[in-house]
Amino acid sequence: MGQVMVPLKGELPKIADVVIVGGGIVGVSTAFFCSRAGLKTVVVERREALGSLTTASSTECFRAQFESAENIELMLGSIEIFSHFDEMTGIRDADISLRQQGYLYLTTESQQAEIYGEIVETQHKAGLTDVELLSGDEARARFPYLSPQIVAARYRGGDGWLSVHEVLYGFVKGSQAEFLLQTAAIGIALDTEGVAAVETDRGTIETRRVVVAAGPFSRRVARLAGVELPLTLLRRHRLAVLRCDLVPRRAPLTIDDDTGVHWRPEGAGALIAKAFEEEPEEPKEVVPRDWSFPAMVLDPQSPCSAGRVSPFWNRATNLLNKSNLDLCAGQYTYTPDHMPIIGPCSGVAGLFLNTGYSGHGMMGGPEGGRRLVQLIVGKTSDSDNPFSFERFLGPRAVLEPKERIL
Ligand SMILES: Cc1cc2nc3c(=O)[nH]c(=O)nc-3n(C[C@H](O)[C@H](O)[C@H](O)COP(=O)(O)OP(=O)(O)OC[C@H]3O[C@@H](n4cnc5c(N)ncnc54)[C@H](O)[C@@H]3O)c2cc1C
Repeated sequence: MGQVMVPLKGELPKIADVVIVGGGIVGVSTAFFCSRAGLKTVVVERREALGSLTTASSTECFRAQFESAENIELMLGSIEIFSHFDEMTGIRDADISLRQQGYLYLTTESQQAEIYGEIVETQHKAGLTDVELLSGDEARARFPYLSPQIVAARYRGGDGWLSVHEVLYGFVKGSQAEFLLQTAAIGIALDTEGVAAVETDRGTIETRRVVVAAGPFSRRVARLAGVELPLTLLRRHRLAVLRCDLVPRRAPLTIDDDTGVHWRPEGAGALIAKAFEEEPEEPKEVVPRDWSFPAMVLDPQSPCSAGRVSPFWNRATNLLNKSNLDLCAGQYTYTPDHMPIIGPCSGVAGLFLNTGYSGHGMMGGPEGGRRLVQLIVGKTSDSDNPFSFERFLGPRAVLEPKERIL
């Protein structure tokens, strides 16, 4: 069982096979697989608790419905891990609150309906044959709460959501790693062989391998080893409606693809989110909330109201007040192509990257961690790795998004 502790004087491990910087879902998943591979694994986390920065603001959804074959495969790997979580971690009857109620993309634009046909065809060709293309009427027959304006939908029933808290602590319990809280990485020492140690604010841990899994702070941590990462940070909000009896409990994650607003049932209410265009920003420990967000997604007069495709929200809005709402904000860590960086960092032997999930780290982190460890122990090669850092280097560097972000 993994050990979570605030190391007192003299308790900091002096040496490790691998030190992971960052105790969010990405760092903790990586620690689980490192420890299962027999490596003495230490995670350093600056905050008072694991999973308390970006991971805590996630809407906790997962999907295989991506447009690139690489991301589809990555997410199917994670979904496999979620589906067999107790076997994988060895925790009997582990309950991660897995709900496979589907992801439903909707459009009211006929031009977009044509694009839906192309997207679903691409997904089928990539092996994701269980994505359904629905007409507006077919979608309404299946999900009667939808607006008459909808002209097309894409749906996959195996997508859904879960409890990221349970997944994260399941990985902790199933590992033999040490998780050091209130311990910040402040330096990465290099010698002629590459990485030599991680310097923390509690002392030095000698190691030949470091994993940068510091979420929005990854750029700063990689700079400790002299490496510049192409990461951009954008603020994102998540609104919890604590109680709303009008929300259909069996609804899928319902996405207005024309505006980006999406919601799903949660407890006695729902979670609502949207990626608004914001200016890139610096990493933040506390991401300030914009209290105009609830009005943007709930006011029936707003052009991006959730009621646009799910009209019951227009009635629900009259029943809601601030005490029924809980708003939080976090930062998406983007790469230029909106796909994660998972793998070694050429130029600095022993430096590994697991970051840049571009809004998909809760769902991609577990399989990303598994793949990174295969690279670390030499079971796979970076030349076959679609998430290699190499794709951002040199004159042929990838600079265009390959995925849309929700
Ligand atoms: C509103 C919102 C909704 C989202 N919804 C979803 C969703 O539905 N599905 C999905 O897959 N993804 C979602 N995401 C994205 C997802 O939350 C992130 O991709 C994921 O949590 C990233 O995990 P992480 O471990 O990389 O980063 P984090 O959770 O941010 O963890 C990084 C950790 O590194 C630590 N750290 C940083 N610097 C140091 C240092 N020097 N020393 C020690 N520790 C350090 C930090 O304290 C932090 O705990 C959402 C994000 C937001 C903001």
